[in-house]
Amino acid sequence: MSRDEARTLGSGWISGTASVVLGAMGFGAVLCLLFPAQLTTPGLRAVYPMRLVRGLIEAVIVTGFVLGLVSVVLRKSKLLGLGGLSLAIVSVLLGGWTVPVEGPVARSNYLGLDWFLLDLLLMSVMFVPLERLFARVSQPIVRNEFGTDLVYFFVGHVLIQVFVFFTVAPATTFFFWARHPSFQTAIASQPLLVQFVEIVLVSDLFFYWTHRLFHRVPFLWRAHAVHHSPRQMDWLAGSRLHILEIILVRAVMFVPLFVCGFAPTAVQVYVVFVALHAVLLHANVRFTFGWIEQLIAMPRYHQFHHASDGESLDKNFAVHLPWLDRLFGTQYLPRDGWPAHMGVAGEHVPATYWAQLVYPFRRRERQGRSGPFREK
Ligand SMILES: [Zn+2]
Ligand SMILES: [Zn+2]
Repeated sequence: MSRDEARTLGSGWISGTASVVLGAMGFGAVLCLLFPAQLTTPGLRAVYPMRLVRGLIEAVIVTGFVLGLVSVVLRKSKLLGLGGLSLAIVSVLLGGWTVPVEGPVARSNYLGLDWFLLDLLLMSVMFVPLERLFARVSQPIVRNEFGTDLVYFFVGHVLIQVFVFFTVAPATTFFFWARHPSFQTAIASQPLLVQFVEIVLVSDLFFYWTHRLFHRVPFLWRAHAVHHSPRQMDWLAGSRLHILEIILVRAVMFVPLFVCGFAPTAVQVYVVFVALHAVLLHANVRFTFGWIEQLIAMPRYHQFHHASDGESLDKNFAVHLPWLDRLFGTQYLPRDGWPAHMGVAGEHVPATYWAQLVYPFRRRERQGRSGPFREK
C-alpha cells in the first residue's frame, strides 16, 4: 500500500472513501433493523415511513457497493475499495433492507444509532455540496481532525437517551415547585409561532450567560476550549463539544422551558431549528446576510466567536440573537470581512477525542491563558 497515493479526482480515493462511509452507514442501518429496541430512538421509530426508509437503506448499500468497485478499479491500493465492498456485502448477508421488524418494539434502554445515521445523511447531503460550491476557505471535505469531529457527532447522537435524561432530570428535580398550572396553560395555548419565538428568546438569554460563565471559570473554560479548538471550520466542526458542556448547557437551558410549560410541538420545532442553525453557524460558506446578521446569528457572527486573534476574542456569546451581545456589550461584528485564524490562543488542546475528553481534568503543565477573558 502506498501511503502517498494521490487523493485527486480519478485516483479512486474519493470513490473509496465514499464507499466505506456508505458501506458503514448501510451496515449500521441494517443493525437498526435487526435490533430496533436497542439501537433506535423511540420518538423517531414511531414516525418512520418504513417503505421510504428501506428504499433509502437499499440505495445507500448499493451505491456503496458500486463505488467500492470503482475504487478497486482505479486505485493501486485496494484497501478502501475492498473495505467498502466488504461492508456492503456483509450488510446484504445480514438481510439488508429487507430485514423484517416484528412489531411492536419492546421498551428498552437504547442508543440513537438511527438518529446518528439519519442526521449524518441529512447534514452531509445539505452541507457538503454547499461547502463545495460556496467555500469560504479552500479545504478538503475530509480536513484535519475530521475524524475527531465525526466521533463527537457519533457520541452526541448515539447517547441521546443519556443526554435527554441529564437535560430533563435537574429541572424536574429542583424546579418542580416553580410550575404553575394556570401560567403554563396560558403559555401553551399561544400560537405555535409565538411560542417558538419565546423559546428562542428565553433559551438564548440562558445560553448567553452560561456561555460567558464557560469563558470565565477556568475549569469550565478548559471544557469549552475543546469547542474552540478546531482550526478549520465546516458543517461538522460545531459538533466538537465536551460531554460536560453538552450536559450542563442543556440542563440549564431546559429549566425555563420546563417552568414555562411550552407545548411539546413548539419545543420540538425549536430542537430541529437548533440542530440546523448550529451546523450552519460553523459551516465553511462565504455567505453574508447584510442587516439580517444583526437580527439572527449567521456563520460570520459565530465564526468571529471562534477566532483566535484580534478584537473578536471573547465576543459574540449569543448563539441565536446577536442583539443580546449588543445589549450586554460583547458584540463584535464589522461591516464585512471574516476572521483570519480559528482556534484557541495561548494553549494547546490535543487533537483526539479521548485526549480532549480528559483535557479539562488534567493538571496544567504550562500556564497558558486560563480563561477567555484572556490577558492581552
Ligand atoms: Zn465560546
Ligand atoms: Zn461554535
